[in-house]
Amino acid sequence: MGKTPDWSRLEAYAGSMSKAEFEQAWQQIYSEKNGLPPPFKFTDTHLEVPTGQLAKTTCRIPFRADKEASTSDQKPSWRRARDLPPLEERPPLSDLHIALDPGHIGGSWAMMEERFLSFKPGEDIREGDLSLLTAKILKERLVKEGAIVSLVRESLDPVTTKRPADFEAESRKVLTDAGFPTPAASYQGLTGDAKLLTVQWQSEKLFYRVSEIHARGERVNQQIKPDVVLCLHFNAESWGDATSPQFSPKNHLHVLVNGCYSPGELQQQDVRFEMLLRLLSRVHEEEIPLATTVAESMARVTRLPAYLYSTPNARQAGSNPYVYARNLLANRLYECPVVYLEPFVMNHEETYHRLRGQHFLGRTLIGGKLVTSAIEDYVNGIVRGLLSYYQTNRPS
Ligand SMILES: [Zn+2]
Repeated sequence: MGKTPDWSRLEAYAGSMSKAEFEQAWQQIYSEKNGLPPPFKFTDTHLEVPTGQLAKTTCRIPFRADKEASTSDQKPSWRRARDLPPLEERPPLSDLHIALDPGHIGGSWAMMEERFLSFKPGEDIREGDLSLLTAKILKERLVKEGAIVSLVRESLDPVTTKRPADFEAESRKVLTDAGFPTPAASYQGLTGDAKLLTVQWQSEKLFYRVSEIHARGERVNQQIKPDVVLCLHFNAESWGDATSPQFSPKNHLHVLVNGCYSPGELQQQDVRFEMLLRLLSRVHEEEIPLATTVAESMARVTRLPAYLYSTPNARQAGSNPYVYARNLLANRLYECPVVYLEPFVMNHEETYHRLRGQHFLGRTLIGGKLVTSAIEDYVNGIVRGLLSYYQTNRPS
């Protein structure tokens, strides 16, 4: 479903970055920590990338000779804090355009998305509903601080116009290519791997995970064109069988920026292009400090410990233990800084009950303990983080 890249967009960054800057960004953020060499070359004078296209097989981008001023006239559509107009006497987030992306779809799609959690008949929480509720409350608060706020999704409906049935042929092909030429159509009555090997499961995944994110990418890049996107999620630990889920004793927080590309992922021309577009347009120079400030304030408000990744698909970004780099479809496709938040384990018992309480102010008695609303803490953590970042970094 990836788009064929327009490599001339990268060539527009000719002479804008020195080799040292490129190498540092590649080694510290975009590559895997102990990864293999990437499927592109860089010499002292230029970057050379295979395009995967027949008409023009390589794209060459000269580096800036160290002392030269930048010769690129590339201006991305998003603005850094320091490029915003002076604040003068206005509210602290004035002029800043923020897009809020409530993770997942929720509503009647939550079960299909495997983001529906219920420990008792008649009660449940759905990640897509909670992320939308969080976005709506957050929007009100950010508007009060002067920001212009757009929601990437406003309801419990998909942004994509496609539906799972549109992906049946593609799913059959995926399964055939993987060595399963006669897959079951439906997963009714199936569990575990058998469920994954059905046309239904594969089609649904292409719908809600791939097509939906591409549709949101179009909306962010073509219509909203924000200065920053905040992707709002709630995390979970494995809860086993959805019909009899298990609580987890763990509860934690982490914040993601884009990076940590494996050489295998970079073999795909669209991924290679999207990574280099982010690197050359210097998204990371704004994204990492912003994510770090937001992570600090989220940690202070929620008092959650940092999540520890043990898999090679993530790496620490900078020195804050809450901030990791990962290559996700959303934080790769959105062409601006993206702060991707993963607070709270939904199947942590106390958190589950706090989330069932939806949004409230002050404290409420839950399970014999006075607790705050997890959603209110989420909103507060973000607002304080953004205020701190923009008050420090924009011209006064
Ligand atoms: Zn999520």
